[in-house]
Amino acid sequence: MNMITNHLPTAELQKLDAAHHFHPFTDKAGLAAKGARVILRGEGVWLTDSEGHRIIDGMAGLWCVNIGYGRKELAQVAARQMDELPYYNTFFQTTHVPAIALAAKIAELAPGDLNHVFFASSGSEANDTNIRLVRRYWDVKGMPWRKTIIARWNGYHGSTMGGGSLGGMKPIHAHGGKIDGIEHIDQPYWWAEGGDMSEDEFGLARARQLEEKILQVGPDNVAAFIGEPVQGAGGVIIPPRTYWPEIQRICQKYGILLIADEVITGFGRTGQWFGSQTFGIKPHIMTIAKGLSSGYQPIGGSIVCDEVAEVVGGAGEFFHGYTYSGHPVAAAVALENLRIMQDEKVVEHVRDVAHPYLKERWDALAEHPLVGEAKLVGLMGSIALTPDKAKRAKFAGEEGTVGYRCRERCFANDLIMRAVGDRMIIAPPLVITPSEIDILVDRAKKSLDECYAGLKKDGLL
Ligand code: PMP
Repeated sequence: MNMITNHLPTAELQKLDAAHHFHPFTDKAGLAAKGARVILRGEGVWLTDSEGHRIIDGMAGLWCVNIGYGRKELAQVAARQMDELPYYNTFFQTTHVPAIALAAKIAELAPGDLNHVFFASSGSEANDTNIRLVRRYWDVKGMPWRKTIIARWNGYHGSTMGGGSLGGMKPIHAHGGKIDGIEHIDQPYWWAEGGDMSEDEFGLARARQLEEKILQVGPDNVAAFIGEPVQGAGGVIIPPRTYWPEIQRICQKYGILLIADEVITGFGRTGQWFGSQTFGIKPHIMTIAKGLSSGYQPIGGSIVCDEVAEVVGGAGEFFHGYTYSGHPVAAAVALENLRIMQDEKVVEHVRDVAHPYLKERWDALAEHPLVGEAKLVGLMGSIALTPDKAKRAKFAGEEGTVGYRCRERCFANDLIMRAVGDRMIIAPPLVITPSEIDILVDRAKKSLDECYAGLKKDGLL
């Protein structure tokens, strides 16, 4: 076999990829027939593929490359740390400086008394930690019957058995099943499910399903509620403003632990350090990953409040942990990423520059004949594609067909914008500039125009 390098022709790389690489969330045979897009390099918000296309990354990779591609400081820190101490574990009463420093920095940034970090290597792993942690908490408190965790349909919390079970995506449950003791309530998705209610009424109604579910399961059996401040993978569903305060009130009323899954919304995505601050949520535990290292190293974790950490930590050994919990190279890189975010005021840039600029241009997309609503919080946005705005109608035929067509036009126009059903979503790197926002929105508009023309031509509108 030839040496496999960047210099091989695209077709050859695609053939090898199809032969040996089993991709996540991918139709293997479908991809093999088509050939994967091969990404070679990244710089800022730009990617270059093996055909030389310069693509604007409207998704920051998978919602993670918040400080943009190609930051040399992170590569240098990783190399230094690999030289000095490439690995050591944090089991058996040992620690190392990167894990100490990163945990202290996260505790400083996190609101309230979220002062303790249990490290993992991904968001899925961190949510598996959370399941075990909250159940252990109630065991130690002498209420071992409190086991049920309530989550939402169309939420996403990862794809391990635990994360996939917390998530409310039926196709994921269908592949491998779901663990016991997880219940789901409906999502606060007004555009698709709000009917005749106002957004505020609907937000309250959906939050009150939590109380109904608690009463149905029995208040004494519920350990925790988990939700993303803004559902990401579910389609960037920004909840009505009435939703989270009511969820918070109900959790408090029944003494239920509240877990905010901040894997996407953490570290600046919503214009504050955490989505919980943007939405006024006071969680007992936060799940973090992605933006913690801007995706440069795989690292995640659970930020745990004093009370939960003291109860679980004060009851002997907690039989849980990962070989790579607090991995020194990942921790050192995450720490450097947070230093850059603070020194370069990246969160302030989102709040004061990038969000206001994008908001004006994003809102204007709602005028497009194919677009029903255009929503944005910080730098996560979505648009609903519809054949009839006034009725908030769905397209005839299988859901996602039009979203897929739109995504294909985006690809052709060198823009990465993702489709979730017939909803298009973006979450660009947080360092995006106004002129890059112009390019992103111009390409999105062109793709919508082409999608619209294609639907007309094919008689689907
Ligand atoms: N929670 C949320 C809210 C996520 O968006 C994701 C990933 N998209 C996860 C958990 C899982 O993270 P990972 O893919 O790192 O396991």
